[in-house]
Amino acid sequence: MKHFYFLAAALLVGSMAYGQDAILLKDYTPKSIYNIQQTRVEKAKYPVIDAHSHDYPTTREEVAQWVKTMDSKGIEKTVVLTGYTGASFDSIVEVYAPYKDRFDLWCGLDLSDYGKPTFAEKAVKELRRCHKLGAKGVGEVTDKGLGVYVAFQTYMAKGLHLNDPLMTPIYDVCAELNMPLNIHVAEPYWMYLPADKNNDGMMNAGNWKIDLTIPGMQTHEQLVAQFDDAVAKHPKTLFVACHFINCSYDLSIVGKMLDKYPNLYVDISARFGETGSIPRHMKKFYTRYADRILYGTDNGMSPEMYEMTFRILETDDEHFYAPEFHYHWNLSGFDLPDEVLRKVYRENFLRVIK
Ligand SMILES: [Zn+2]
Repeated sequence: MKHFYFLAAALLVGSMAYGQDAILLKDYTPKSIYNIQQTRVEKAKYPVIDAHSHDYPTTREEVAQWVKTMDSKGIEKTVVLTGYTGASFDSIVEVYAPYKDRFDLWCGLDLSDYGKPTFAEKAVKELRRCHKLGAKGVGEVTDKGLGVYVAFQTYMAKGLHLNDPLMTPIYDVCAELNMPLNIHVAEPYWMYLPADKNNDGMMNAGNWKIDLTIPGMQTHEQLVAQFDDAVAKHPKTLFVACHFINCSYDLSIVGKMLDKYPNLYVDISARFGETGSIPRHMKKFYTRYADRILYGTDNGMSPEMYEMTFRILETDDEHFYAPEFHYHWNLSGFDLPDEVLRKVYRENFLRVIK
């Protein structure tokens, strides 16, 4: 009888996939087994300005709740990249009106006359109007390869790239009004690589991929070069390139641009998962470019999300899983020096964005 059960169990295991053969890549979320230092950072070590967030609340009550979370986490102010112009921007201004000192609202761009001779004139006029209403900057202006658009708007100026001369009047009025632009260039580099077993990012979001066969689609290199050209040609305009210019895979590209252009800054939003895998490299980068980096989140309003960003920047914890960032690999903290933290968290913003 004993032999029978053993045989049955062996047959059962033999007929079912298990272990490596049974788990899908997308479901793989390992939990650390190491008995090592685990730090919860409930509140940032220094006051923080979040330079990259969006209009997540849907009611006034949710805005009030967000302010409470900001208070408890040490977020002094949040930049809301609304993306909107016109009546939509005006209604967002209304919603945030009770908390004027806690939120900076940035407007979008009116690109709707693209293709007509009135394009620049209309865009500039609307920027001036939004500025009068209190818009402090413009964003998030995006080009992921097919043309410029503004996040949360469906309209895309197809074939218009960041260094197009048509953009010049927009950059000029931003310089005149002291409105920085938050610019999203390309996508993470792994999305341009074959989606095969060697792809370093595919487990993060396997369905995200740039299709380079779409007519007009620009490569990662082309998009970064176009942005470089735009920053070079508009030295009086202030550019904040979000997500490390989507070059966290090779920060020497970012470093070279920061070295060349004093009117360029980067925000660190939505790249905690990517950079948490190279903590010693990041500490060196943050330290070298401490005056040019702005804290940002781009990831909702949850207390856990803020805490995780602080843990990554402030601690020397190792090999921890961060479900907030949906990344498949475990992360390690950068252990940034106090002086660097103070600059990235707040001082750079106050000095540069004002
Ligand atoms: Zn964003």
